[in-house]
Amino acid sequence: ADSPPPPWLADLNPQQLAAVQQGDAPLLVLAGAGTGKTATLAARVAALVLAGVDPHRLLLLTFSRRAAQSMAQRAGRRLHQALGLRATQAPPVLPWAGTFHAIGARLLREYATQIGLPDHFSIIDRGDAQDLMALQRQALGLAAAHSRFPMAATCLAICSRTLNSQQPLAQVLADHFAWCSAWEAELKVLFRAFAAAKAAQQLLDYDDLLLAWLQVLADDGLAAHIGARFDAVLVDEYQDTNRLQAAILQRLKPDGRGLTVVGDDAQSIYRFRAAEVGNILGFAQQFGPQARTVLLERNYRSSQPILDASNAVIAQAADRHAKTLWTHRTTGPRPQLVTVADELAQARWVADAVLARREEGVVLKQQAVLFRTGSHSAALELELARRQIPFVKYGGLKFLEAAHIKDLLSLLRWGQNPRCMLAAWRAAQLVPGLGPRGARRLVDALTAADDPRAALAAFLPPPAARADWPALARLVQQLQAADSPWPAELDAVRAWYTPHLERLHGDSAALRQLDLDQLQRLAALQPSRERFLTELTLDPPEATSDEAGVPHQDEDYLILSTIHAAKGQEWDAVTVLNVIDGCMPADMATGSAAAVAEERRLLYVAMTRARHHLALMVPLRFHVTQQHRLGDRHLYGGLSRFIPPAVAAWFDRVTDGPAAPDAAPAVLPPRPTGAAPLLQLGQAWD
Ligand code: ATP
Ligand code: MG
Repeated sequence: ADSPPPPWLADLNPQQLAAVQQGDAPLLVLAGAGTGKTATLAARVAALVLAGVDPHRLLLLTFSRRAAQSMAQRAGRRLHQALGLRATQAPPVLPWAGTFHAIGARLLREYATQIGLPDHFSIIDRGDAQDLMALQRQALGLAAAHSRFPMAATCLAICSRTLNSQQPLAQVLADHFAWCSAWEAELKVLFRAFAAAKAAQQLLDYDDLLLAWLQVLADDGLAAHIGARFDAVLVDEYQDTNRLQAAILQRLKPDGRGLTVVGDDAQSIYRFRAAEVGNILGFAQQFGPQARTVLLERNYRSSQPILDASNAVIAQAADRHAKTLWTHRTTGPRPQLVTVADELAQARWVADAVLARREEGVVLKQQAVLFRTGSHSAALELELARRQIPFVKYGGLKFLEAAHIKDLLSLLRWGQNPRCMLAAWRAAQLVPGLGPRGARRLVDALTAADDPRAALAAFLPPPAARADWPALARLVQQLQAADSPWPAELDAVRAWYTPHLERLHGDSAALRQLDLDQLQRLAALQPSRERFLTELTLDPPEATSDEAGVPHQDEDYLILSTIHAAKGQEWDAVTVLNVIDGCMPADMATGSAAAVAEERRLLYVAMTRARHHLALMVPLRFHVTQQHRLGDRHLYGGLSRFIPPAVAAWFDRVTDGPAAPDAAPAVLPPRPTGAAPLLQLGQAWD
C-alpha cells in the first residue's frame, strides 16, 4: 500500500502525508505546536485543487484574515510545484477563506432575508457593541438604581459568553461571573433591550453573525443547499472554536464527510470567550467510527532546547492529551530567563538584544516581542522610538478604536444606515454646541420617526449649534442619498471633518490625518461603501500612527504582539515580556483554577513561536497601572509560578548588569491593604 508520494509532497512526513491524502471521511489532525498542522492543511487544499475540486467549492475557516492569506500562499506554492508553474503565476484564489465571522457575513448577504433579517444590515465591532450596551444600561437606569451594577464591558462579556457557549444565563453567571449573579433578572432585561436596539437599527454584532448564520442553517433546506456548495470544509485552530461554531459545522456537514479540522488542545487560549476545547477532544466521538484521527509529533519549528523548556511548562498542566514534541534540530542556544530590575531595564535589555541579533544577521522582521496584554509594551515602545527601531504592533490599540477613525466611520455608517443611532449619536456630537443632550434629542427624534431621513431634515438643533449644524445635516443627507460615486464621496466627508479634527485634536491632528489617508487608501480597494464598512469592521488594520513612526511595508521592522494575536505564527527570535505572577498568570485574586490553566497554555503558545532564540523576561519591580485598580504604585511580581525550579533548570539564567543609575532602589513597597492583593509577593528563585 506504500506507494511513494508524488514529488511535490515528498517533504511531508508519513503522518502528514496520510492527512493530506485522506479521503473525505471526517478528519481530525490533533498535534502540538509547530508540527505542521497548518502546513498539512495547506497541502490538503492543494491536493484537492489538483484533484479537480473548484477552489470556489473549498471553505477554509481560519483564525484571522492574515492566516487565511498565508494559507492560500502556502497552498499556491504547493500547486506551483505540482503543476510546474512558474513562480510568477498567481496562486489560486480561495474566495471562501476567512474567519467564521467574515464568512458568516458573506453568506448572510445572500441569505439574510430568508430568516427575516433586512438585507442591508450594518456590522458593528466590539467597541460599538459596548457603546450600545452602555446606552441601554443608561437608558434603563440600571447604573443609577444599583450602585454596583456591572460595567457595560462586563455586561457585554456576559451576554457574549452566554450566546457563544449556548448555556443558560444563570449557569454562565455561576461559573464565570459569580459576583454578578445577584443581577440576573436585570441583566435579562438589559440583554433584551440590547437585542431590540440592534434589531431596530439593523445592526449585527460579531455574535449575531454566528447566531444568524446558524439560524439560516436551522432550516433543513437551506442547510442542505449551503452545505452542497462546498465539497470540503477545512478548519485551522479548531481548539479555539466555540459551541456555536461547532454547531455551524455540524449543520453544514452533518455526517462530517468533507470536514477536516486541525488543532492542539494545549494551545486552547480562548476559553475566556467561550471556546470549547471539548469540540476538538470530542470530534472522533461526534462522528463515530468513520472519523479519522492523525497525530503529529515531530516539530519542525523550534530547536530542542526550546522544545524542552516548552514541554516542561505544559507538562505541569493537569488536563491535556500528553504530547511530547521532538525535533531533529537538537542543537541551538538554550532559552534565557532574564532578570532585570524593572520595566525600564526590561525595555533597555530587549532593545539591546534585538539590535545584537540584527548584527548577527537576524532581520527585525524575524524577531518578535510578545506580551500578555497590549498595555504591557508601553515602556518598550518608548525605548524603541527613542532608538529609532521601527516596529509594528499587533493586537494592541486597534485602528478602529482611535477617536478620529471612529468619527469618520460614524459619518459613513450613518449615511449607509439611517437607522444606526450609534453612528448618529457620535457624529452629531462633532458639531460644536451640540453636546450629549442635543445628540440624545436627535437620536430620540430619529428613533421615533417612521422615516429617519425626514426627521433629520426637520431636526432643530440647540441655539449654540445652529451655525454649524446645517453643514453636517447636508453632508449626511447626501451620504444617505448615495448619489456620489465611491470612494470619491469620502473626499466630501473629509472636507467636512478636517476643521473639526483640528479643533478637537490640535497638536496630533497632522498625525491623525495620516491615518485618514490610510483609511482612504483602504477605501479605494473596495467596490462600494457597504463592502468597505463590512471589511473594515471584520478585519481592521492593526496599528495607528500614534504608535511612533509606522514603518513602510517594505521596510524592516520588529514585531510587537499580544500572545493571542501571535497564534499560529513563528519567528527566529522571540522575547516574552513580564513573565511574573500578576502578569502571567494575570489577576490572581479572581482567577479560578481554570483561568490559571489558560494562562499556562498562553505562556506555552508564546514560547513555541520561537525557532532559535527564546528569552523570558522577569522584571523584579513591576509598575501596576490603573487597570489593576490599585492606583499608581509599584509592586513586586516575582517569577511566574509557571517556572518553578524544575522548569527553570531548562533555561540559562541571565541577570542584567549593574542597575542603571536612574533605576529606583529595590525596596519593598507597602502591600495594599483591604481586599486581597491582585499581585502577590512572588518567590525569586535564588
Ligand atoms: P501551530 O500549532 O503553532 O499553529 P503548526 O502545527 O500549524 O503550528 P506549521 O506552522 O504548519 O505548524 O509548521 C511549523 C513550521 O514547520 C513551518 O515553518 C513549516 O514550514 C515547517 N514544516 C512543517 N512540516 C514540515 C515538513 N514536513 N518538512 C519541513 N518543514 C516543515
Ligand atoms: Mg498552525
